[in-house]
Order: sequence, then structure tokens, then C-alpha cells
Amino acid sequence: STNRNDKEKGVNVQVILRCRPLSEDEARIHTPVVISCNENRREVAATQSIAGKHIDRHFAFDKVFGPASQQKDLYDQAICPIVFEVLEGYNCTIFAYGQTGTGKTYTMEGGARKKNGEFPSDAGVIPRAVKQIFDILEAQGAEYSMKVTFLELYNEEISDLLAPEETIKFVDEKSKKSIALMEDGKGSVFVRGLEEEIVSTANEIYKILEKGSAKRRTAETLLNKQSSRSHSIFSITIHIKENTPEGEEMIKCGKLNLVDLAGSENISRSGAREGRAREAGEINKSLLTLGRVINALVEHSGHIPYRDSKLTRLLRDSLGGKTKTCVIATISPSIHCLEETLSTLDYAHRAK
Ligand code: ADP
Ligand code: MG
Repeated sequence: STNRNDKEKGVNVQVILRCRPLSEDEARIHTPVVISCNENRREVAATQSIAGKHIDRHFAFDKVFGPASQQKDLYDQAICPIVFEVLEGYNCTIFAYGQTGTGKTYTMEGGARKKNGEFPSDAGVIPRAVKQIFDILEAQGAEYSMKVTFLELYNEEISDLLAPEETIKFVDEKSKKSIALMEDGKGSVFVRGLEEEIVSTANEIYKILEKGSAKRRTAETLLNKQSSRSHSIFSITIHIKENTPEGEEMIKCGKLNLVDLAGSENISRSGAREGRAREAGEINKSLLTLGRVINALVEHSGHIPYRDSKLTRLLRDSLGGKTKTCVIATISPSIHCLEETLSTLDYAHRAK
């Protein structure tokens, strides 16, 4: 939805679809493929025919990336223009949405940095965006400042992935008290007690990202939880000093949120048995509310239900108004994932 009308109303939501290739194991046992991607027509078809039961559904998106697409293709075609908007002073958010195992983290983070510090060809959206931001700022000779935050939302509770080690270890006790979602009088939301790291080079951000991701994994092990149930939000805020034609000094502020959402199977499948009940409910809450907020924005409905989940409260200043939103829906081509794939396609399609 990048037409003029949407832009004038300040709503801009783009939904792109990415289908991963079969894994080596899946290919070896000749797993049937039920998804076909037509990148030129920006369409995805899900087809299956067994025992007289036929499924043949087609979905259109703003962009489609098939199994052969590379990280660079997706970045150059879909993400690069968004980063330019951030540097123009927009708040932009990129979500990865999909079933666990379909490539959300691969798409957002991708392969690890090499020993010499260079990033590999399978580097994902985050390292590429960081590089592009610094390249542009340096080419412009701009005067700027930049800070990053990295947090995780699990069970509607926030933990700070940049906090000192001890806080993470006792996340249940300590950070519950120190980290809280606060609202100022004007309805702006901020996270009290969240670490903000000031950065001045791309390398510093890569290190912070790696440190935060490692912490996420450590906390997972310690608390016996899975990343498939948590959302992670990596945010970069940039202030750029500018001179107006009238010779006045102006500060332009843009923000980029990069969100690796909890596995979408948490919505449909009710893992809602016994102890998991609350957890499943809370994950549903953020994912479902996100879908509703995006729909309300696209449909210009009066009431936007930001307040219904922590995820949407957290991202409120970056959803709606003068912002850009991109949802990357990830799917598997395998027959075994078809049911989840259809629910991802439906969710992502409605988000348009
Ligand atoms: P998720 O974060 O959605 O649970 P992952 O990003 O961990 O999924 O991906 C699951 C596996 O599939 C990983 O081994 C990842 O490297 C691989 N993978 C995902 N997407 C792609 C892709 N587009 N190309 C190649 N491998 C992929
Ligand atoms: Mg993941």
C-alpha cells in the first residue's frame, strides 16, 4: 500500500512475503513442496490435492521473495528505501512474522560476523541497515548522535538485553522492579530503567547486537524458556543536525525498530494446556493486537487499540502517524507446514 492516498494520510504499511528453501534434510527425504512464488506478479500460491481434498489459494503482497532469493535481494529491494526514510526523520518498524523455523531470525540477523569483523553474504536486515545508516551519514558528513536499545518481551514482561549480567540472571526479581513501561502526560510511552547505549560506529552496534543476542540465549537457558515465545525489539534512534535554507539549526530525529516476533504458531495452536495457558494467552495478546493495530491503521479506523498489549504500547510512536511499517511474513514451502503457512498468509494478507 504505497499509493499516494496512503502517504497523504500518513499511513504506510508494506507487507512482504518470504518463503525459505527446503532444508537439506527436508530435500533429502523429498518433502513435497506446496508453495509456489511468483516474484514478478508478487503472488504466492498454496496448492495441495490429496484424497479428493483440494487446496488452491492465492495471495498477493507488496513484494514476494521466493526460496532462491538472497539476503541482499530482500534488503536492496524492500528495506533500503525504509532506511532512507529513517534518515529523513521517520519512525519505521520492520517486523518478522511467521511460524518458528521459517527464517525470522535468519532474515533479521542472518549469519554471524567473520573473525576479521566483516559481515558475510548471508548477513541479515539488521547488520545491513546499520551499515547503510553509517555509510549515508558519513557520505553526507552529517553531524549526528545515535543510541540503541535492545529488549525482549516475554509473557508481557520486558527484559533489557543490554543490562548488566546480574539483572538478566535474576530477571524475575530484579528487572521486574526496575524496568517498567511508563506513560507521560501526553500519551508517549517510554521504558523506565532501560539501558540506552550511545554509539558512534557500525562496529559498536554489531558488538551490542551480538552481546544482546548472546544474553537472550543465556537467559533462555537459565529460565528454561524458548525464543520462539518471545519478541525481541532492537531500536536505533538517530538525531541529525541540519541547517535550514534560512540558516537555522534543526534537529531531525528518526527511529528504526527491528522486531523478531514470537512464533506465529502461538496464535493458532492452543499450547494452552495447564501451565502454558497464561503464557500462550500473553503471546497471543501481543501478536493478535499487533494484527488489529495494523488493520485499524490501514483501514483508517478511528480507534487504534494500542493499549491492548505491551508490544503495541512499546511501539506506539512508531506505528501510525508519520511512520512506515514493514511486515516480513516468513513461510516454509513444505507440505508439513501447510496449515501454519495458510494462517500466516491470512494474517499477513489482512495486514494490508
Ligand atoms: P525462526 O527464527 O523463524 O524460528 P530461523 O531463522 O531460525 O527461523 O530459521 C530456521 C532455519 O532455516 C535456520 O537454520 C536458518 O538458517 C534456515 N533458513 C531460514 N530461512 C532461510 C533462507 N531464506 N535461506 C536459507 N536458509 C534459511
Ligand atoms: Mg528465531
